[in-house]
Amino acid sequence: MKIVETIAEVRKEVKEWRKQGLSVGLVPTMGFLHEGHQSLIERASRENDRVVVSDFVNPVQFGPGEDLASYPRDLARDAAVCEAAGADLIFHPSPEEMYFPDFSTYVNMESLSEELCGKTRPTHFRGVCTVVSKLFHITAPDRAYFGQKDAQQLAIIKRMARDLNFDIEIVGCPIVREADGLAKSSRNTYLSPEERQAALVLSQAVALGQSMAEQGEKDAEKIVSAMKELIAKEPMARIDYVQAVDGVSMSPVREMKAPVLVAMAVYIGKTRLIDNFIYEG
Ligand code: AMP
Repeated sequence: MKIVETIAEVRKEVKEWRKQGLSVGLVPTMGFLHEGHQSLIERASRENDRVVVSDFVNPVQFGPGEDLASYPRDLARDAAVCEAAGADLIFHPSPEEMYFPDFSTYVNMESLSEELCGKTRPTHFRGVCTVVSKLFHITAPDRAYFGQKDAQQLAIIKRMARDLNFDIEIVGCPIVREADGLAKSSRNTYLSPEERQAALVLSQAVALGQSMAEQGEKDAEKIVSAMKELIAKEPMARIDYVQAVDGVSMSPVREMKAPVLVAMAVYIGKTRLIDNFIYEG
Protein backbone atom coordinates (compact mmCIF):
# COMPACT_ATOMS: atom_id res chain seq x y z
CA MET A 1 0.00 0.00 0.00
CA LYS A 2 1.25 3.48 -0.90
CA ILE A 3 0.60 6.85 0.72
CA VAL A 4 0.70 9.80 -1.69
CA GLU A 5 0.17 13.49 -1.14
CA THR A 6 -0.22 14.94 -4.62
CA ILE A 7 -2.98 14.81 -7.21
CA ALA A 8 -0.41 13.99 -9.91
CA GLU A 9 0.72 10.85 -8.04
CA VAL A 10 -2.84 9.56 -7.59
CA ARG A 11 -3.56 10.10 -11.29
CA LYS A 12 -0.38 8.25 -12.24
CA GLU A 13 -1.30 5.22 -10.11
CA VAL A 14 -4.90 5.10 -11.32
CA LYS A 15 -3.78 5.42 -14.95
CA GLU A 16 -1.48 2.40 -14.49
CA TRP A 17 -4.35 0.35 -13.02
CA ARG A 18 -6.65 1.39 -15.85
CA LYS A 19 -4.09 0.27 -18.42
CA GLN A 20 -4.21 -3.17 -16.80
CA GLY A 21 -8.02 -3.17 -17.00
CA LEU A 22 -8.46 -3.06 -13.20
CA SER A 23 -11.55 -1.60 -11.48
CA VAL A 24 -11.19 1.12 -8.84
CA GLY A 25 -13.16 1.82 -5.65
CA LEU A 26 -12.93 5.10 -3.70
CA VAL A 27 -13.59 5.58 0.03
CA PRO A 28 -13.59 9.30 0.95
CA THR A 29 -12.79 9.95 4.65
CA MET A 30 -11.55 12.65 6.97
CA GLY A 31 -9.21 10.17 8.65
CA PHE A 32 -8.92 9.08 12.28
CA LEU A 33 -10.32 5.84 11.00
CA HIS A 34 -12.48 3.42 13.01
CA GLU A 35 -14.45 0.26 12.28
CA GLY A 36 -17.10 2.25 10.39
CA HIS A 37 -14.53 3.41 7.85
CA GLN A 38 -12.96 -0.05 7.91
CA SER A 39 -16.25 -1.66 6.85
CA LEU A 40 -16.41 0.69 3.83
CA ILE A 41 -12.81 -0.10 2.82
CA GLU A 42 -13.36 -3.85 3.21
CA ARG A 43 -16.46 -3.70 1.05
CA ALA A 44 -14.67 -1.60 -1.56
CA SER A 45 -11.84 -4.10 -1.55
CA ARG A 46 -14.25 -7.01 -2.11
CA GLU A 47 -16.00 -5.27 -5.00
CA ASN A 48 -13.02 -3.66 -6.82
CA ASP A 49 -9.54 -4.69 -7.95
CA ARG A 50 -7.95 -1.59 -6.39
CA VAL A 51 -9.05 0.73 -3.55
CA VAL A 52 -8.15 4.36 -2.94
CA VAL A 53 -8.87 5.86 0.51
CA SER A 54 -8.77 9.63 0.70
CA ASP A 55 -7.73 10.90 4.13
CA PHE A 56 -8.34 14.64 4.18
CA VAL A 57 -9.90 16.96 6.76
CA ASN A 58 -11.68 19.19 4.27
CA PRO A 59 -11.63 22.79 5.54
CA VAL A 60 -14.37 23.86 3.12
CA GLN A 61 -17.05 21.75 4.84
CA PHE A 62 -16.45 23.29 8.28
CA GLY A 63 -18.34 26.44 9.29
CA PRO A 64 -16.98 29.27 11.48
CA GLY A 65 -16.61 28.13 15.09
CA GLU A 66 -16.69 24.43 14.17
CA ASP A 67 -14.00 21.88 15.08
CA LEU A 68 -11.67 22.14 12.03
CA ALA A 69 -8.54 22.85 14.13
CA SER A 70 -9.27 20.24 16.81
CA TYR A 71 -10.51 17.47 14.49
CA PRO A 72 -8.44 14.35 15.42
CA ARG A 73 -5.67 13.30 13.02
CA ASP A 74 -3.38 10.22 13.06
CA LEU A 75 -2.00 9.18 9.66
CA ALA A 76 0.17 6.33 11.00
CA ARG A 77 -2.83 4.68 12.65
CA ASP A 78 -4.99 5.32 9.57
CA ALA A 79 -2.36 3.64 7.38
CA ALA A 80 -2.48 0.49 9.54
CA VAL A 81 -6.30 0.36 9.34
CA CYS A 82 -6.26 0.90 5.56
CA GLU A 83 -3.62 -1.74 4.96
CA ALA A 84 -5.45 -4.35 7.07
CA ALA A 85 -8.76 -3.56 5.34
CA GLY A 86 -7.28 -4.05 1.86
CA ALA A 87 -6.65 -0.51 0.57
CA ASP A 88 -4.00 -0.01 -2.15
CA LEU A 89 -3.49 3.73 -1.97
CA ILE A 90 -4.03 6.46 0.61
CA PHE A 91 -4.44 9.95 -0.80
CA HIS A 92 -3.43 12.35 1.97
CA PRO A 93 -3.23 15.83 0.43
CA SER A 94 -2.55 19.11 2.19
CA PRO A 95 -5.29 21.78 2.03
CA GLU A 96 -2.94 23.71 -0.33
CA GLU A 97 -2.77 20.72 -2.68
CA MET A 98 -6.58 20.59 -2.87
CA TYR A 99 -7.40 24.31 -2.92
CA PHE A 100 -5.62 27.03 -4.87
CA PRO A 101 -5.31 30.27 -2.86
CA ASP A 102 -7.88 31.84 -5.20
CA PHE A 103 -10.13 28.75 -5.44
CA SER A 104 -13.61 29.94 -6.35
CA THR A 105 -15.68 27.11 -7.88
CA TYR A 106 -18.14 25.26 -5.65
CA VAL A 107 -20.69 22.51 -6.19
CA ASN A 108 -23.91 23.52 -4.50
CA MET A 109 -26.82 21.19 -3.80
CA GLU A 110 -29.97 23.26 -4.14
CA SER A 111 -32.65 21.14 -2.51
CA LEU A 112 -31.64 18.15 -0.39
CA SER A 113 -29.46 20.20 1.93
CA GLU A 114 -32.17 22.47 3.32
CA GLU A 115 -33.41 20.25 6.17
CA LEU A 116 -31.64 18.27 8.92
CA CYS A 117 -27.91 19.14 9.19
CA GLY A 118 -28.24 21.79 6.47
CA LYS A 119 -30.19 24.04 8.88
CA THR A 120 -27.46 24.17 11.52
CA ARG A 121 -24.55 23.86 9.07
CA PRO A 122 -25.65 25.98 6.09
CA THR A 123 -22.41 25.72 4.08
CA HIS A 124 -21.50 22.14 5.08
CA PHE A 125 -22.94 20.25 2.10
CA ARG A 126 -21.54 22.76 -0.36
CA GLY A 127 -18.11 21.86 1.06
CA VAL A 128 -18.88 18.14 0.93
CA CYS A 129 -20.17 18.22 -2.66
CA THR A 130 -17.20 20.30 -3.76
CA VAL A 131 -14.55 18.05 -2.24
CA VAL A 132 -16.30 14.83 -3.31
CA SER A 133 -16.57 16.15 -6.90
CA LYS A 134 -12.87 16.92 -6.84
CA LEU A 135 -12.06 13.46 -5.47
CA PHE A 136 -14.25 11.88 -8.15
CA HIS A 137 -12.33 13.77 -10.85
CA ILE A 138 -8.94 13.01 -9.31
CA THR A 139 -9.47 9.28 -8.75
CA ALA A 140 -12.05 8.50 -11.49
CA PRO A 141 -13.39 5.45 -9.61
CA ASP A 142 -15.97 2.89 -10.78
CA ARG A 143 -17.60 2.90 -7.34
CA ALA A 144 -17.52 5.18 -4.30
CA TYR A 145 -18.49 4.11 -0.78
CA PHE A 146 -20.35 6.20 1.81
CA GLY A 147 -21.82 5.35 5.22
CA GLN A 148 -25.50 5.44 6.12
CA LYS A 149 -24.36 7.10 9.36
CA ASP A 150 -24.29 10.34 7.33
CA ALA A 151 -27.61 9.58 5.67
CA GLN A 152 -28.26 13.07 4.33
CA GLN A 153 -24.75 13.20 2.88
CA LEU A 154 -25.32 9.84 1.16
CA ALA A 155 -28.62 11.04 -0.37
CA ILE A 156 -26.97 14.28 -1.51
CA ILE A 157 -23.99 12.50 -3.10
CA LYS A 158 -26.34 10.13 -4.94
CA ARG A 159 -28.30 13.08 -6.29
CA MET A 160 -25.14 14.99 -7.19
CA ALA A 161 -23.68 12.00 -9.06
CA ARG A 162 -26.94 11.65 -10.99
CA ASP A 163 -27.37 15.38 -11.70
CA LEU A 164 -23.76 15.95 -12.78
CA ASN A 165 -23.47 12.67 -14.74
CA PHE A 166 -20.62 11.15 -12.78
CA ASP A 167 -20.27 7.64 -14.18
CA ILE A 168 -19.71 6.27 -10.67
CA GLU A 169 -21.84 3.85 -8.67
CA ILE A 170 -22.57 5.32 -5.23
CA VAL A 171 -22.67 2.51 -2.66
CA GLY A 172 -24.32 3.09 0.75
CA CYS A 173 -23.05 1.00 3.69
CA PRO A 174 -24.78 0.26 7.03
CA ILE A 175 -23.96 2.06 10.30
CA VAL A 176 -21.29 0.35 12.41
CA ARG A 177 -21.91 0.71 16.16
CA GLU A 178 -20.04 0.15 19.42
CA ALA A 179 -21.17 -2.90 21.42
CA ASP A 180 -23.50 -0.69 23.51
CA GLY A 181 -25.12 0.91 20.45
CA LEU A 182 -23.29 4.23 20.04
CA ALA A 183 -22.61 4.86 16.34
CA LYS A 184 -18.86 4.86 15.71
CA SER A 185 -17.54 8.34 14.95
CA SER A 186 -14.15 10.06 14.93
CA ARG A 187 -15.81 12.73 17.10
CA ASN A 188 -16.55 10.19 19.89
CA THR A 189 -12.95 10.84 21.04
CA TYR A 190 -14.10 14.30 22.23
CA LEU A 191 -16.39 12.71 24.86
CA SER A 192 -15.46 12.52 28.56
CA PRO A 193 -16.37 9.21 30.27
CA GLU A 194 -19.60 10.78 31.60
CA GLU A 195 -20.46 12.21 28.17
CA ARG A 196 -19.68 8.86 26.54
CA GLN A 197 -22.34 7.30 28.82
CA ALA A 198 -24.81 10.12 28.11
CA ALA A 199 -24.26 9.72 24.36
CA LEU A 200 -26.07 6.38 24.49
CA VAL A 201 -29.29 8.37 24.44
CA LEU A 202 -28.91 8.79 20.66
CA SER A 203 -28.91 5.09 19.81
CA GLN A 204 -31.60 4.49 22.45
CA ALA A 205 -33.81 7.07 20.71
CA VAL A 206 -33.08 5.41 17.35
CA ALA A 207 -34.07 2.02 18.78
CA LEU A 208 -37.29 3.46 20.23
CA GLY A 209 -38.26 5.20 16.98
CA GLN A 210 -37.42 2.17 14.92
CA SER A 211 -39.50 -0.18 17.07
CA MET A 212 -42.49 2.21 16.97
CA ALA A 213 -42.23 2.36 13.16
CA GLU A 214 -41.89 -1.41 12.89
CA GLN A 215 -44.91 -1.91 15.13
CA GLY A 216 -46.96 0.08 12.64
CA GLU A 217 -47.02 3.65 13.99
CA LYS A 218 -47.83 5.73 10.92
CA ASP A 219 -47.73 9.19 12.52
CA ALA A 220 -44.17 10.47 12.04
CA GLU A 221 -44.72 13.28 14.55
CA LYS A 222 -45.59 10.76 17.31
CA ILE A 223 -42.38 8.88 16.66
CA VAL A 224 -40.28 12.06 16.63
CA SER A 225 -41.95 13.33 19.85
CA ALA A 226 -41.32 10.05 21.68
CA MET A 227 -37.66 10.16 20.61
CA LYS A 228 -37.33 13.80 21.71
CA GLU A 229 -38.90 12.99 25.09
CA LEU A 230 -36.42 10.19 25.66
CA ILE A 231 -33.45 12.42 24.75
CA ALA A 232 -34.76 15.26 26.97
CA LYS A 233 -34.45 12.96 30.00
CA GLU A 234 -30.65 13.00 29.61
CA PRO A 235 -29.37 16.20 31.30
CA MET A 236 -26.13 16.31 29.25
CA ALA A 237 -27.98 16.16 25.94
CA ARG A 238 -29.24 19.14 23.93
CA ILE A 239 -31.27 18.42 20.80
CA ASP A 240 -30.25 20.17 17.57
CA TYR A 241 -32.96 18.35 15.62
CA VAL A 242 -34.93 15.13 15.41
CA GLN A 243 -36.76 14.97 12.09
CA ALA A 244 -38.59 12.55 9.82
CA VAL A 245 -38.00 13.20 6.12
CA ASP A 246 -38.64 11.45 2.83
CA GLY A 247 -35.76 9.02 2.26
CA VAL A 248 -35.04 10.34 -1.25
CA SER A 249 -36.07 14.02 -1.34
CA MET A 250 -35.18 14.81 2.31
CA SER A 251 -38.43 16.84 2.61
CA PRO A 252 -40.29 16.66 5.94
CA VAL A 253 -43.04 14.01 6.12
CA ARG A 254 -46.01 13.56 8.43
CA GLU A 255 -46.75 9.98 7.50
CA MET A 256 -44.42 6.98 7.79
CA LYS A 257 -44.69 6.09 4.11
CA ALA A 258 -41.48 4.23 3.20
CA PRO A 259 -38.73 5.12 2.66
CA VAL A 260 -38.54 7.55 5.58
CA LEU A 261 -35.30 8.76 7.14
CA VAL A 262 -35.62 9.59 10.83
CA ALA A 263 -32.46 11.48 11.71
CA MET A 264 -31.11 13.46 14.64
CA ALA A 265 -28.25 15.65 15.74
CA VAL A 266 -27.74 16.00 19.49
CA TYR A 267 -25.10 17.93 21.42
CA ILE A 268 -23.54 15.97 24.26
CA GLY A 269 -21.70 18.72 26.07
CA LYS A 270 -19.95 20.57 23.24
CA THR A 271 -19.82 17.57 20.89
CA ARG A 272 -22.43 17.34 18.17
CA LEU A 273 -23.31 13.73 17.33
CA ILE A 274 -25.65 12.33 14.67
CA ASP A 275 -27.58 9.09 14.29
CA ASN A 276 -30.54 7.83 12.28
CA PHE A 277 -32.61 4.96 10.99
CA ILE A 278 -34.35 4.35 7.72
CA TYR A 279 -37.87 2.97 7.71
CA GLU A 280 -38.18 0.79 4.62
CA GLY A 281 -41.77 -0.33 5.25
P1 AMP B 1 -15.83 10.82 7.97
O1 AMP B 1 -14.38 10.45 8.07
O2 AMP B 1 -16.51 10.96 9.30
O3 AMP B 1 -16.09 11.96 7.02
O4 AMP B 1 -16.55 9.56 7.30
C1 AMP B 1 -16.10 9.01 6.09
C2 AMP B 1 -17.11 7.99 5.62
O5 AMP B 1 -17.25 6.97 6.61
C3 AMP B 1 -18.50 8.59 5.41
O6 AMP B 1 -19.07 8.03 4.24
C4 AMP B 1 -19.23 8.17 6.65
O7 AMP B 1 -20.63 8.06 6.47
C5 AMP B 1 -18.61 6.82 6.92
N1 AMP B 1 -18.80 6.46 8.33
C6 AMP B 1 -18.44 7.19 9.41
N2 AMP B 1 -18.84 6.58 10.55
C7 AMP B 1 -19.46 5.44 10.17
C8 AMP B 1 -20.10 4.37 10.88
N3 AMP B 1 -20.19 4.36 12.21
N4 AMP B 1 -20.64 3.36 10.16
C9 AMP B 1 -20.57 3.37 8.80
N5 AMP B 1 -19.99 4.33 8.08
C10 AMP B 1 -19.44 5.36 8.75
